[in-house]
Amino acid sequence: MLTIELLKSVFTNHADYGFEDLTITGVSTDTRELMTNKLFVPLVGERFNGHDYITTARKQGAVAALWQEDRPVPAELTDTFPLFYVEDTLIALQQLAESYLQRLAAKVIAITGSNGKTTTKDLVASVCRMHFQTHCTNGNLNNHIGVPLTILAAPSNTEVLILEMGMSGFGEIEYLSKLAKPDIAIITNIGESHIEHLGSRTGIAKAKLEIVDGLNENGLLIYDGDEALLNQVDQLEIIKVGFQAGNHYTIKNVEVCHDQTLFEVGDFSFTVPLVGAHHAKNATYSIVVGHHLNLTDMQIQLGLNSIEKTAMRFEQLKTSHGARLINDAYNASPTSMKGAIDVISQFNMYNKKILVLGDMLELGEQTKAFHEEIGKYIPDTVDFVCTLGEYAVNIHQQTAVPSKHFLTHDQVAEFLQSNQDPSTVILFKASRGMKFEQIINELIER
Ligand code: ATP
Ligand code: MG
Repeated sequence: MLTIELLKSVFTNHADYGFEDLTITGVSTDTRELMTNKLFVPLVGERFNGHDYITTARKQGAVAALWQEDRPVPAELTDTFPLFYVEDTLIALQQLAESYLQRLAAKVIAITGSNGKTTTKDLVASVCRMHFQTHCTNGNLNNHIGVPLTILAAPSNTEVLILEMGMSGFGEIEYLSKLAKPDIAIITNIGESHIEHLGSRTGIAKAKLEIVDGLNENGLLIYDGDEALLNQVDQLEIIKVGFQAGNHYTIKNVEVCHDQTLFEVGDFSFTVPLVGAHHAKNATYSIVVGHHLNLTDMQIQLGLNSIEKTAMRFEQLKTSHGARLINDAYNASPTSMKGAIDVISQFNMYNKKILVLGDMLELGEQTKAFHEEIGKYIPDTVDFVCTLGEYAVNIHQQTAVPSKHFLTHDQVAEFLQSNQDPSTVILFKASRGMKFEQIINELIER
């Protein structure tokens, strides 16, 4: 738990008032969250300034706050509310997390990569949770604010702390890694996301490899061994995971079923209740971690069984007409879109396979080319492709499969209502910004 002693040692400039009997149970930056007994950290954003919400935070139960020195202190707070004065509340939040983490005895596992971070985080957590006090990133809180907040929310008896680390440019993972000083680092894969800031796939690989910068001297690096761009690190302890021969953990005999994926690692047959060959790889990262923590294959398998699937990641739903609807429209990049198409095209239990594809955003100058590539990639085992969005039209133009481009969400919903039956599977895949849930909500059974 966060103590006043720790806060006072990190932030030496503080009001004298009111610290004696304080118990702080956590940290919050958002007054819409429960604030009881928390330290309020007012962040300064483009549109909002947390300092303007101090009265609300206090009313909601916050018992102390950080305060940026250049902001005037409202008269009603003077000598009535404990404040720690700092130059920059964001940097202070990060410093506090770093100091708090030093006091935990937890093994820290940091996970980055273009795709599969959240899934791998959830899998590693499921494997560890059964045997260790485990704390992990909630949802997708993986940036310079989410990582410190995750650390500060870890109970003091945490044994394994799993941190998802995301980024959109150089230097971000380096910063997070140096803050968290992981014992184990995982790079799930290299795709094309954020290529507009990083220039090329080589740039992306370089940015992900920054995770090594904060890795403990004797730390373990686990990564996608099928990705040549990653084979350039001289970390002492490395474990490469992949489908190709030559990896330390080679994944064999992958079988993708409609509600799970089977695969072999070593002489053990594993099952992961997620659909797609890429999830065999994500699960194998958690197998490596499990072995590193001295768990047996059977213990790891029991952990994999218990994964809680996060909404909109290959979520399997049913339409009001009885067709299978797969919602994978949480995000999209060329790699993950191809992965999802691969999975659907192997779904031989359905007579009709329809793809509903939308824009993949943040791909920079090559956006058009990436969409065209997807168009060409779609195999003829797919029966029909619906596209929506200014870039997705390029998928429609390049595909050899029958397809139609739509201008509104309603048009897509209307078309699908009259073109499905119980033997149809419909995959939705697009970037989050395309709001495909608007179509899905029209179609699903209630
Ligand atoms: P974000 O950047 O939004 O945090 P993420 O890296 O956390 O994404 P997930 O949310 O786990 O990734 O998965 C996102 C998408 O990537 C899913 O749609 C899934 O199909 C695909 N995916 C997951 N794992 C892999 C992988 N190892 N290789 C390629 N694609 C993957
Ligand atoms: Mg994520």
